[in-house]
Amino acid sequence: MVITQENKNFDVNFPIIIIGAGACGLCAALSANEQGINPLILERDKVPSGSSALSTCLIPAAGTKLQRDAGVNDTPENFANDIINKARNLNDPNMVKFITNESGPTVDWLIENDVPLNLITSFFYPGHSQYRMHGSPNRTGNELMEALLKKVSEQKIDLMTSALVSNIYINSKKSIKGVEITRPNGDKERVGCNILILACNGFGGNSNMVKKYIPEMADALYFGHTGNRGDAIKWGIEIGASISDIGSYQGHGAVTHPHGTLLFWGLMTQGGFQVNINGERFSNEVRGYSEQAVDVISQENSYVWEIWDSISHEIGMDFVDYRNGADLGAHKVANDIKQISSITKIPLEKLENTFEYVNHCIDNKIKDKFGRDWSNIKTMTKPYYFAKVTGALFHTQGGLDINSLAQVLDKSGKPFPNLFAGGGAARGLSGPSRWGYLSGNGLLTAVVLGKIAGQNAAKKIIGNDC
Ligand SMILES: Cc1cc2nc3c(=O)[nH]c(=O)nc-3n(C[C@H](O)[C@H](O)[C@H](O)COP(=O)(O)OP(=O)(O)OC[C@H]3O[C@@H](n4cnc5c(N)ncnc54)[C@H](O)[C@@H]3O)c2cc1C
Repeated sequence: MVITQENKNFDVNFPIIIIGAGACGLCAALSANEQGINPLILERDKVPSGSSALSTCLIPAAGTKLQRDAGVNDTPENFANDIINKARNLNDPNMVKFITNESGPTVDWLIENDVPLNLITSFFYPGHSQYRMHGSPNRTGNELMEALLKKVSEQKIDLMTSALVSNIYINSKKSIKGVEITRPNGDKERVGCNILILACNGFGGNSNMVKKYIPEMADALYFGHTGNRGDAIKWGIEIGASISDIGSYQGHGAVTHPHGTLLFWGLMTQGGFQVNINGERFSNEVRGYSEQAVDVISQENSYVWEIWDSISHEIGMDFVDYRNGADLGAHKVANDIKQISSITKIPLEKLENTFEYVNHCIDNKIKDKFGRDWSNIKTMTKPYYFAKVTGALFHTQGGLDINSLAQVLDKSGKPFPNLFAGGGAARGLSGPSRWGYLSGNGLLTAVVLGKIAGQNAAKKIIGNDC
């Protein structure tokens, strides 16, 4: 809730409060501290993790040192074009521009801050025209969070955990004055601030908001952090902030069922495909994993079978999620189509027809009936791997409108005096719907906007501008 009150006194004051200790909040804290302003981070969980820790830690960026070292000739303009094309020109071009411009310097900065990232050149992610995905050694957000938390601790930045921000205080000039924290035992504490940064992600963990804003995913599995309950957006609505693309989200069409492990989309871009329980393909899988979620859950029984080959399997072993799936028995192996049919109970003839059609497209280097281009794909190498998968909601993409300094805007486009937002709390780069998400848009806006918000908040404090 937002409480409007003039001249509210607080027991303790911080120049900057950051709500949320995911990738966005931690980057905001490090960049504010770099400017000489030590902020306070408030995190509802006992141990910070957020969706950032659940992620595969793939961060796209253009013009990084790693790309230059690998001879990859990429520019922010190329990257911006890819993001805009994916969102069919329906995202905010200014946001795309300043975020892609800052993407390379931000990834270089993360590496300078000891985040272990390398450039992935073993396959392209759908929609990316260059090798620009940067990932941690085991492709897990835990590695990102561990590295950021270590830096925050080394720099003695104040991080208060088990601190759910329940209310924010504002005055009649729409200036944020502080926050109220609710502790797990119900105790309340009130802390004042000069600037507030909202880094508490979107509303994926709030089923009522999902039902209201994204009804097509109301019954889908939510695979993100359950503590992300839309608080930033709810506060934004109360204070009259401008909010865009509220129905937009990132889904994923390959969460193993019932094991609940993630299959990375390189399995598809390398030549894998999905079939329903009748052995029929039903979509162009390589458009992107986000839009595939709805296609998967709309199949009979809300699950399908994903099939890939042994070369993709080798690439997959770089991913901790993939290895977990293999260890849990989510992935099956077969030497021929007959064996796949006998395990999946998909009629053999149907499955053979589908393989035959795919091989026909590969051999003739043509597009299939769904528009998928097979011209650069090699015939699958045995053994075949396959898994039962369902679609899931990963995170929401709509949120608070911001300017290039990450300041939250009101409905007239004017920034609030001392309110910033980033990551999943802010509007994303994916346009209005599920199909606009280009792989990596999530962490991209978390780390870039976190860094921008922290830096500009600190500059405002230093310049006595709040
Ligand atoms: C399985 C999975 C895989 C993904 N893989 C990728 C990937 O490889 N690349 C990519 O770009 N994106 C990926 N994403 C998306 C990415 O994880 C998110 O976009 C990103 O982590 C958002 O960062 P954030 O800091 O905004 O939010 P979070 O990391 O979720 O952090 C928000 C924090 O705020 C806290 N919080 C919430 N409300 C309050 C409150 N009221 N008071 C105090 N604290 C609060 C939460 O507890 C949480 O710790 C993936 C998502 C999922 C679910």
